[in-house]
Amino acid sequence: MRGVKEILQKMSGAGKDDIALVEKAYAFAEEAHKDHTRFSGEPYFGHLAETAYLLAELGMSGKVVAAGLLHDCIEDVGVAPSTIEREFGKEILFLVEGVTKLGRLKYRGAERHRESLRKLLVATGKDARVLIIKMMDRLHNMRTLSHVPEAKRKRIALETLEIYAAIAHRLGMGLVRRELEDLAFEYAMPKEYQETKKLMAERSRTTLERLKKMVNTLRKEFAQNGIKGFKTDSRVKGLYSLYRKLARKEGDIEKIYDIAALRIIVPTVEDCYRALGLVNNVYQPLPNKIKDYIAFPKPNGYQSLHTTVFSGDGSIVEVQIRTPEMHEEAERGIAAHVEYKEGAKQTGRSGGSFDWIKSLIPGFARRTTIEEKKNGAPAAQYAPASTPSWLADLENTEEDPELETTLKTDLFNRRVFVFTPTGDVVDLPAESSPVDFAYAIHSDIGDHIFGAKVNGKMVPLDTHLHNGDIVEIQTKKTAKPKSKWLDFAKTTLARRHIRNALEREK
Ligand code: MN
Repeated sequence: MRGVKEILQKMSGAGKDDIALVEKAYAFAEEAHKDHTRFSGEPYFGHLAETAYLLAELGMSGKVVAAGLLHDCIEDVGVAPSTIEREFGKEILFLVEGVTKLGRLKYRGAERHRESLRKLLVATGKDARVLIIKMMDRLHNMRTLSHVPEAKRKRIALETLEIYAAIAHRLGMGLVRRELEDLAFEYAMPKEYQETKKLMAERSRTTLERLKKMVNTLRKEFAQNGIKGFKTDSRVKGLYSLYRKLARKEGDIEKIYDIAALRIIVPTVEDCYRALGLVNNVYQPLPNKIKDYIAFPKPNGYQSLHTTVFSGDGSIVEVQIRTPEMHEEAERGIAAHVEYKEGAKQTGRSGGSFDWIKSLIPGFARRTTIEEKKNGAPAAQYAPASTPSWLADLENTEEDPELETTLKTDLFNRRVFVFTPTGDVVDLPAESSPVDFAYAIHSDIGDHIFGAKVNGKMVPLDTHLHNGDIVEIQTKKTAKPKSKWLDFAKTTLARRHIRNALEREK
């Protein structure tokens, strides 16, 4: 079992108050759960100490780590909320109750999937720390899932794949997502898991050897061209992610170029572009495979330069180039923002689409954009304390255990969050249409819309999108924007592109 010292060791930079708080919560939870055991027969408290350890490892503050230790004591051993408030204060009670409420939302199978997701986001919309605690709780439960009775195992594994891994992805927590997916995959789809595992084993060794050779070549090239202090990291794709991709490529593993990607981490954004030039110079790149996610981050905030190249021995390799900050962000996502020393890191990363959720983290300092840095502006901050009115409305329904009514007054009244078929979230104004969605993805997709599917069904292009809709755009080379789209397109981006296209037609 994790001792309190191990947890504190992970909290580098913790002050006296943080240490005292975690020590107190550790002792309190250990006592509260002393007669409580897990399916494995081990003391239940082990789960709480481990959850706290994962939170400390993620760089969370003392309050969050303490809430991790206390997260099951209301629900499982009947500690009164008033006791937690008296001993640990309002903020920790809020976090513990938030996690307790999330635990009460029951997963009801795939058809309720979107609704559960929506509820989860609403329930935690006020404070992303609640969601992060819940994620680490789930991660530890998944690591110990083999002890759970078989009938329950499959339900938990499916819920993890469809809800928690999806949320980890949307929050940009790449490492957590991958581990959750691979742990759940084995229990949710045992047959597919075994097949994919076998395929991967056959492939990964030769691929990793190939990457090693490439690293040696590039090391020389970079040194000659003055790029210093770069690191490489070759990681094999997660099994579940490989399985999903195989399904999209009709099971043809030859079509999957990123089974193992070569990651190149260089000190600055400028180095990234120079490194990309060098890689594409040494190895022949595939056309249309060079992606600039630095200038155009993915919807979940991911930034990197990608290129896919011929490695010279008949195979094809994906290369990802990024700065250390982008790397950390890709692995830790939102957790990289809820840091120990708030605002201690200024990475020059521009806003990105986390903004809506980042702005909900109390005391979060927005990262200064490259532009602002150039102009010597002071570190940017999200607007402080005053609660927006739609959030204040949420407060009134806080007692509702099912959170039903919150849906009526939630933050989604002004924005809709819809998903691409691969689960990326797209944030649009209310009453947006598939046309707005298409342009939000890429102008080229917008300019060639042929049809649209919402939740698997064909719909007219002026359909209003709703929260949680999964939108799929069908394109055709010969399709062109129509003037009547201007009657319903909501975003300025879409309207501008439609007008430009109509101009060109003339
Ligand atoms: Mn738990």
